[in-house]
Amino acid sequence: MAKEGEWHEGMPSHEAILFSCFGGLSNTGLTSALACLEVVKELGLEKVAIGCLPSVPLGVKPVLGKARAAKKIIAVDGCPFECARKTIEAAGFKIAKSIVLARDIGMKKVALHTDIGKGLGVEKYISQEDIKKAKELIIKAIMEEET
Ligand code: SF4
Repeated sequence: MAKEGEWHEGMPSHEAILFSCFGGLSNTGLTSALACLEVVKELGLEKVAIGCLPSVPLGVKPVLGKARAAKKIIAVDGCPFECARKTIEAAGFKIAKSIVLARDIGMKKVALHTDIGKGLGVEKYISQEDIKKAKELIIKAIMEEET
C-alpha cells in the first residue's frame, strides 16, 4: 500500500519522461543533463520530467510506474555508448525517441580528465549553444505525434 503523497498506480504521471545519461565525466553527458533540465523548465512538469535512470535496473516501483503511465519515454544520451537508451530498453520499456548528442547535434566528446592539473573549471566544457540545440531537439521529440 502506498504511503500518503507517494505516487501509486492510477495517479497521473508526467506526459513525457526523459531518461538522460548525465555522464558527468564528459562534455556530452553534462550537456544531456543540462539540456533536459532546460526542457523541463520550459515545458513544465505536467508535460515532462526527468526520470531517475539508476533506479530503473533496480526496479524502484514508483519510477517504473510513472514511466509506464507516461505517454512517451525519450532517451537522451551524450555519446554512442547510449547508456540511457540501453538501460531503459533492458528494463523492457519502449522508447519513442532516442537522442544521441554526438550523433544528432554533432557534439565532439571531450572527457574532463584531460585537463586535470591545469586548473580549468567545468564551465569550459559547457556550451550554451550545444545545450540550446539539444533542448530544441528534445522539445521536438516531445511534441512529435507518434506514428
Ligand atoms: S552515454 Fe556516453 S556520456 Fe552518457 S553516461 Fe554513457 S558514456 Fe557517459
